[in-house]
Amino acid sequence: MTDALALAAVLAAGSVVAPAPVPEIGAVKEVEAVLPAGRFLLQWREPKRVRNEKWAELLKGSRLFEDHIDALNAHYALPFDIPVVAEDCGEPNAYYLPEKRRIRMCHELLGDSTRRIRPHVSPRRSAPDVALADVLHAFYHEVGHALIDAYKLPTVGREEDAVDQFATLILLDSGPAGAEAAQVAALEYKLSARESSPDFADEHSVDRQRAYNILCLVYGAHPRKYAGLIGRGSLPKARAETCREEYLHLKDAWKRLLAPHYRL
Ligand SMILES: [Zn+2]
Repeated sequence: MTDALALAAVLAAGSVVAPAPVPEIGAVKEVEAVLPAGRFLLQWREPKRVRNEKWAELLKGSRLFEDHIDALNAHYALPFDIPVVAEDCGEPNAYYLPEKRRIRMCHELLGDSTRRIRPHVSPRRSAPDVALADVLHAFYHEVGHALIDAYKLPTVGREEDAVDQFATLILLDSGPAGAEAAQVAALEYKLSARESSPDFADEHSVDRQRAYNILCLVYGAHPRKYAGLIGRGSLPKARAETCREEYLHLKDAWKRLLAPHYRL
């Protein structure tokens, strides 16, 4: 059984789209007299290409962005508004554009993830529904970039790794459905790694590393609960040994960085 197929067993049960998160990684702080009024603002742009209409419709119908943006706005006070624009991009991707202070979530991303994940999804599940979990991880990755920019957070180490960690941690904070969503994102990276040669010069870690890093945090959050991730060969035992420490360290780091900006 391949790693991807092993992970697919996880996809057979429960909802993979996490409920609105309660981000423990933003700690309670004393209420400030005046909080900045900036918010994440969702904007939909009509798809230009016919083949993207289905993905735009599914994204809208899922209310994925609405629910998670509402939760983010309840917890984080931003120094400026950050539009989250769902639109055609011409490629399956997502971006945070610091010069425009805007997140782009591409319609094509859901189509691409669905295509890749479909062969590994239980027949009882809808492949696009499962792929929404991957879009959600990508969304929080971009939110991580946006928060680093908005709050001028220091990053020691590569920002791309840091925001993968942020996305995974915030999903893990939302419970078992979030942990499943993170595993879908890991599966997607493993499958993606098979389709192209790794680019070692890229600012992102290579896809297989991104997959292992996500799985390490899932395992580290609840080693007993997710012990099967090692048993099924998804996470090498040698890496798993440090994952609890890695999870606690990174969660504490994000918590300390975000606590001063927490709304509650
Ligand atoms: Zn990025």
